[in-house]
Amino acid sequence: MRFEWAPAEIGPGEEEQMATDPRLIDLFLEVARFEGTSGNERAVADHVRRFLERLGMEVHEDDAAGLSGGNCGNLVARAGSGGDLVLMSHMDTARPSGQSRAIVHPDRITSDGTTVLGVDDRAGIAMLLHAAEQALRHGRGRKDFTLGFTICEETTLVGSNSIRFEPAIRGAVLLDSSLRPGNFICRSYGCQHVLVTVHGRASHSGIAPEKGISAIAVAAKAIARLPLGRIDAETTANVGIIRGGSATNVVPEEATLDAEVRSVHPARVEELVGRFRACFEEEAARAGAQLEFRAEWDFMPYTVDETSALFARVAAALSMVGLVPTPQVSAGGSDANSLNARGLPAINLGIGAQNPHGNDEFILLEDLEQGAAIALALLS
Ligand SMILES: [Zn+2]
Repeated sequence: MRFEWAPAEIGPGEEEQMATDPRLIDLFLEVARFEGTSGNERAVADHVRRFLERLGMEVHEDDAAGLSGGNCGNLVARAGSGGDLVLMSHMDTARPSGQSRAIVHPDRITSDGTTVLGVDDRAGIAMLLHAAEQALRHGRGRKDFTLGFTICEETTLVGSNSIRFEPAIRGAVLLDSSLRPGNFICRSYGCQHVLVTVHGRASHSGIAPEKGISAIAVAAKAIARLPLGRIDAETTANVGIIRGGSATNVVPEEATLDAEVRSVHPARVEELVGRFRACFEEEAARAGAQLEFRAEWDFMPYTVDETSALFARVAAALSMVGLVPTPQVSAGGSDANSLNARGLPAINLGIGAQNPHGNDEFILLEDLEQGAAIALALLS
């Protein structure tokens, strides 16, 4: 059955070429159209809750809104006893998708090019809703499972940092990677954010430059000494933002910069951040400047071992739907980083949500179908 909202554009002669379950396409188009940037996920959450409650699931919203300052908490939905596995997606999009006009092509779904489609991660949500409906309404899967829907994955990960499950839950599978189905991320970089402020001394740059201490010059000398870019096969570093100074005729009093170091090895991150700190401290001391240096984990690295039960379960589900299980390493962060850091083994599945965050976001119909099939296989 089709829903009542305005249908997506379907070109002449295209409809009969689509083998994908129209119900799945409907579920995706419907959920993609809700506005729900980070902290503003209410409309998505209300829709998901109504849908799952109609299937007889017990849905609970937690108090994560108080942590995010947004309008919505995480949702945890339980079927039967809840089982021992939670399947998850995030409800926020990095950019607004409320005005998105989806176009269903013979092989894929795109936006009209003026906005994101919302495929990251509404595609994951649609796959989970479809799998839950198949399992509970059509008897094609088990009756005991848990679904989780987080807030603020695109910004602070506050949702996955605070979401709570029953003690019986032993693993999490996220449907949230842009890789194509068959791939799954079982190893990820962690990332430390480094914030540096150099305090120099202001002075007239023409009349009394000798009295000044240039914060920009100190920062520049330190940056020139930093190891940046790809440091080794599993480590990168970047200075992403720099600000400083107040006028061309003033020796700059202050300069601040934001940098990051990523690696799959926490010790490697610590070591490089230590070198960053030493470079800035030495250059500040040499010039007589003061320094504030802060570093904190944005997200921790993780590895889900191939001997683990979760790894085996994901590989089995992928095989069941005819895909070759292909473990991958990711340099980006996701809810899986926070869940693993909190002690819940979590794997991020490739669902083919391609070109995430761009106006050219798309998903192949084949991948939409396979993602939903993997979700259902994980429930069987
Ligand atoms: Zn995502």
